[in-house]
Amino acid sequence: MQSVFDLLENRNFFKLVCGAGNEDAESVKRLVYIYAKAGCRVFDISARKEILEAAKDGADLAQKDDVHFCVSVGIKGDPHISKAQMNSSCIKCGNCFRNCPNGAIYSSIIIDEKKCIGCGVCAKKCPVGAIKMVDKDVNVREILPYMVENGVEILELHIMGHDKKDLESKWQVINECKPKLASICIDRENFGNKEVLSRINEMIQNRSPYTTIIQADGIPMSGADDTYKTTLQAIAMAEIIQNANLPVYTVVSGGTNSKTAELCNQCDINYHGIAIGSWARKIIKSQLSASDFWENTEIQNQAVELANSLLRSNFFEC
Ligand code: SF4
Ligand code: SF4
Repeated sequence: MQSVFDLLENRNFFKLVCGAGNEDAESVKRLVYIYAKAGCRVFDISARKEILEAAKDGADLAQKDDVHFCVSVGIKGDPHISKAQMNSSCIKCGNCFRNCPNGAIYSSIIIDEKKCIGCGVCAKKCPVGAIKMVDKDVNVREILPYMVENGVEILELHIMGHDKKDLESKWQVINECKPKLASICIDRENFGNKEVLSRINEMIQNRSPYTTIIQADGIPMSGADDTYKTTLQAIAMAEIIQNANLPVYTVVSGGTNSKTAELCNQCDINYHGIAIGSWARKIIKSQLSASDFWENTEIQNQAVELANSLLRSNFFEC
């Protein structure tokens, strides 16, 4: 069995992002089942006991005992921990329902909070401003020690918010939990390059070399297209980390798709891994939502083949 360190050192670290805000246990179980069968070894899940159980069930059903779990939490203001909330000014135009990438809005225009991953697409598409994004925090002091005790090896903090006090307190909890690896997920939507590096330097100053992953997020939750343009910001972010010569592992994320490894190579980016969320979920969306998923091996095989081709397109051994 390859450890998470082996996977990173060998550049064979492919992480399937189930969604930091995805609390839909059945969809997480199916996602892990498909991608584990396809050769993925690392899974990023939300910080909920029932979601960890669902992810483990998915891996067991796939008969894979060499998988690793990463649990993600965010600081206040980070989109990964927000949820869409609708108010009474809705005119039932259906834009949000048609555009939600995660099937979290029903045709009756009701939001299923468990499925909402906080991408904010619905709020942008709403013509009357009837949807706002609200933070949905978890008690990290309670849940993160439980996660590490129950086999989670990577704890990840999404830090795209301005609340530095919240950042410091959650980062302290993560360090106290002593996971095998701590991960910092950051993008440049709110900060310039200097602020990005200064935050990272502050956060890693007391950590041992190569015990931290920097997840270089391009545009978070934007990977719904399979184009070079979508993945470009992720590569630009990874380059900033690379040029800083920090003792960290770099994982490219946020807008990643089947073009990511190719573009990284063309741009001389020495990444250690790739994390894919939106695009990885989108390519198997119809199979995932099949009502007879667990009985229908043909549907499962189709999904595994699609997932496997995404891994192979990024040159992963699987
Ligand atoms: S579009 Fe995004 S933010 Fe809106 S309900 Fe769907 S997943 Fe949630
Ligand atoms: S996009 Fe806005 S107005 Fe249209 S159905 Fe959704 S919440 Fe209602």
